[in-house]
Amino acid sequence: MVYRYPCKCRTCDATFALRVGIGHEGSQRHFFLCPFCEEECSISLALDFNQGQASISSTDNCTIPEDVSMAQTCSYKVVNLHPDYIVPFDQRHQDGVFPWLKDTMRFYEVLKKYDKGTHRLKDMRDLINFNESFVDNWQILNRAWSLVGNNRLRLSRNVLKAYRWIYEKGNGSLWSALHDFSRGMLFPERGRLLEMYGEFLEEIRDRHADGLAAFIAFYEKTFREENFRQYRQVFNEYFRDFSEYKQTLNYIRCGVELPRGSFASSRGFERVKMFYGNAFEALTSNFVVPACLNNVWNNREFDRFETMDLSKYVSIDKSGRGNPFANNSKINFLLESVNTTIRNASHHGSIRLLKGRDIIEYRSGGTGARREMSYAEYIHHCNTLVMNLFIMFAVELKIGEQ
Ligand SMILES: [Zn+2]
Repeated sequence: MVYRYPCKCRTCDATFALRVGIGHEGSQRHFFLCPFCEEECSISLALDFNQGQASISSTDNCTIPEDVSMAQTCSYKVVNLHPDYIVPFDQRHQDGVFPWLKDTMRFYEVLKKYDKGTHRLKDMRDLINFNESFVDNWQILNRAWSLVGNNRLRLSRNVLKAYRWIYEKGNGSLWSALHDFSRGMLFPERGRLLEMYGEFLEEIRDRHADGLAAFIAFYEKTFREENFRQYRQVFNEYFRDFSEYKQTLNYIRCGVELPRGSFASSRGFERVKMFYGNAFEALTSNFVVPACLNNVWNNREFDRFETMDLSKYVSIDKSGRGNPFANNSKINFLLESVNTTIRNASHHGSIRLLKGRDIIEYRSGGTGARREMSYAEYIHHCNTLVMNLFIMFAVELKIGEQ
């Protein structure tokens, strides 16, 4: 579904037409350039799916004129926006086009394999979003988690009642709800990687039960609390700007490649430019769990690496923390999109969006060589890190239950 609105730039007074695709969340925000003066504008949309209503509000540098008829907007220059899909660059101002339909079909080809046996899945919308808002559900979990941290357990249970379960209810605890949510985020194709990690853990349990038990006891005492704090912090930052990341999220969830030459129609770059660095830090810091499990899998004590011990491992640079399991084909998918050059640029602010283009420029630390990628690719990398954070989080939730 696409809604059409007139929009007037406050900087240059030009009026144009917004064509906004409707996503799955209760609200969506879009950052875009005025097609005339190229200054940034932003709008947000509040959606009521029960009533089938949407209300738009301008949030920066534009207004939504009320005295312009829909017919008048037909002669206006168009800005296409969609929260769930990227748009071919040459169609970003084209009227009457629905470029996302092609990608919808590509997602559907993947999703239809999963239709059987999942009772609540009726259509595309259910398939990909389970008819739930990820942001709303996350906010419930985050509140319940905060209350547990303050030892307000009864209040936490009350808050958790509003959580909408994606799969089966489990034991109804906060931890099982967080696991349920993680699986939902990873559905469908990334869920297979979670299964792979789970099988790896089962193999260790079968062959090295004592080594695994020793690691779990140590993990619960030493790492669990800090690891969980990092997961929660990154997920909070992620869902704060979910409208940005959602633009390429489903491509990753469905294992569909980003089409070349497409661009992310919303570019809230200033809000997300630090995110890659933050997600990188949390991910590589929590690599300690797969790294120790890899030791056990290789017939060693959990704290014995090939060339060092655990105290040395936790002191090495984060960029090297994935090296111990880089050759383990069962878990080395966790290294996808781990790129020290992007991390350094994101962390030190030496990354910028080139105005009027979809290109991010950054420089490598060593030689200072100039590098580029599209904004869509940048958020794609961010999403890949987040998917792997959800996989590691889901595994740690289960480890804690042993
Ligand atoms: Zn303007």
